[in-house]
Amino acid sequence: MTTIGVLALQGDVREHLRTLTGLAVEAVPVRRPAELDDVDALVLPGGESTTMANLAEAFGLLEPLRDRIAGGLPVLGTCAGMILLADRIIDGAAVPGGQRTLGGLDVTVRRNAFGRQVDSFEDDLDVAGVAGPVHAVFIRAPWVEQAGPDVEVLARVARGPAADRIVAVRQGHLLATSFHPEVSGDGRIHRLLLDLVSGA
Ligand code: GLN
Repeated sequence: MTTIGVLALQGDVREHLRTLTGLAVEAVPVRRPAELDDVDALVLPGGESTTMANLAEAFGLLEPLRDRIAGGLPVLGTCAGMILLADRIIDGAAVPGGQRTLGGLDVTVRRNAFGRQVDSFEDDLDVAGVAGPVHAVFIRAPWVEQAGPDVEVLARVARGPAADRIVAVRQGHLLATSFHPEVSGDGRIHRLLLDLVSGA
């Protein structure tokens, strides 16, 4: 059986585990390097990207995560998870040396991009590879400000002041969304991750 891990240091871990379980895969929390070794794919959940990076370091996961990502592990990063996957961050946390990421995805993300007035909003998106609209919930979300040549844009905001902003991307085995696919009970974005495992 396919085993999908959810990085379980901080953030909305339980909702991802529940969504994955609904897709008939084994879904396991990952907190230690040994647990990371056993997964066929990984979800980096939403939460707070600086906290998650600090905890990953404290748990000895930063380098193992970077190694597995570089080795081709399929990963879905949602919201803070998108920030962790990004190679470059605009408006990252003001820490010496700049906010750390795991990297791998050739994008520049703007953190908290939708601004204070629009802390969170919802939209129905067309997502490449998914049939029918996807109801997307954005919570202090980043967007993709710039994407490298190998990055496929899967979705853009449909309406409002942020219309056309890039909010879902894929580069090879890495998927990222600005929104939270785990809150709506819709497993279709997670299904894209499973397709990467099976090579579909
Ligand atoms: N703003 C958060 C961060 O910078 C992300 C928010 C989220 O994951 N819902 O990490």
